[in-house]
Amino acid sequence: KEATDINNLVDEYLRLAYHGLRAKDKSFNADFALNLAEDLPQPKVIAQDIGRVMLNLFNNAFYAVQQKQKTAGAGYKPMVKLSTQLKGKQLLLTVEDNGTGIPDAIKDKIMQPFFTTKPTGQGTGLGLSLSYDIVVKAHGGKINVESKEGEGTVFVVALGV
Ligand code: ADP
Ligand code: MG
Repeated sequence: KEATDINNLVDEYLRLAYHGLRAKDKSFNADFALNLAEDLPQPKVIAQDIGRVMLNLFNNAFYAVQQKQKTAGAGYKPMVKLSTQLKGKQLLLTVEDNGTGIPDAIKDKIMQPFFTTKPTGQGTGLGLSLSYDIVVKAHGGKINVESKEGEGTVFVVALGV
């Protein structure tokens, strides 16, 4: 584990996620907003693993807005908001989307390995369970999720600093 600039990681993995989606679907477009706090302390993390967590959260968020775009009216503006902030002794990374949201009936299953609602080939169902292992088990952090079906989802990753 090494002291790591989390904002740099957000930048790097956001590009990967966004361009990855655009490469598969040229018509895909989503606005994103970055709100990265300055002068954050650098948590000691395995940067590549926290990067994988980010990549999965960003991909999930973009996927959710992409899906909603298919059924929502023309007034729908897909939006993914990413922010970092310091709260006490925790660095918080927040990933917010106004996509499909998560139905109450499956909320307690999304962290389970192989649980996915995506068609074959589009999701393995391993992203969140792996993220849980990385953040909670390997780094002693937390992952929280709040979501409302049809409205959107907020994931918060907390890392000790
Ligand atoms: P995968 O992305 O391969 O499906 P994940 O473990 O990353 O696997 O996510 C599991 C499931 O949780 C997804 O299939 C989806 O149903 C739900 N989910 C995760 N993130 C979001 C999100 N931002 N909006 C809506 N649903 C989500
Ligand atoms: Mg995923």
